[in-house]
Amino acid sequence: MSSPIAHSLIGLALGLIRFLPRYRRWDELADQLRVLWRPLLFCVLLANAPDLDYFFGIFRGNVNYYHQTVTHTLVWIGVMALAIWTYGRLRERRASWLSLGLLLALLGSHLLADWLTVDRSPPIGLMLAWPFSDHLYHATFAFFPPPAKQTWTAVWSFQNLRLVLVEMAMTLPLVIIVLWFKRHAVTAGISASIVRGRRDQKP
Ligand SMILES: [Zn+2]
Repeated sequence: MSSPIAHSLIGLALGLIRFLPRYRRWDELADQLRVLWRPLLFCVLLANAPDLDYFFGIFRGNVNYYHQTVTHTLVWIGVMALAIWTYGRLRERRASWLSLGLLLALLGSHLLADWLTVDRSPPIGLMLAWPFSDHLYHATFAFFPPPAKQTWTAVWSFQNLRLVLVEMAMTLPLVIIVLWFKRHAVTAGISASIVRGRRDQKP
């Protein structure tokens, strides 16, 4: 599984795609982020939501007991996305199909990142098709490094510091690309309208 860093940055990138309007200046971006912090935080939390299964393991005395089981399946993310979307629709009556797509993308991004993470402790992979099949799915070309999480000392190890840096190098560019695109889409739009205006003025 990937660490919360990769899941959070992927969730943030998806949230920015959905909610951030195009902007021209950095101060406009700062204003937008001040307004949008709640939906963006929601996106970050939802992209991490399948790892809630660590919490249930506490009652068994082993946080890994339920990890990568029920909450890491396609059925679970489908049910969760539909439940949140239905709640939003009943409460605010403005949840669109696009919102349902975003919910599925956020929860699905978690499974995708975990599927792409090197897994060395059996059972290797995710039971994506559970309860219809117990088959474990794992990418043969997994590239996210595996975290050390056997003990609390291992969690704060140098290996995990390296993992955080590698994950940031892989996923932070997604956020930067979205921010770049939202800014340059405006610039491109303005340039195109100037060119169009000049063309219209020609006799
Ligand atoms: Zn996970």
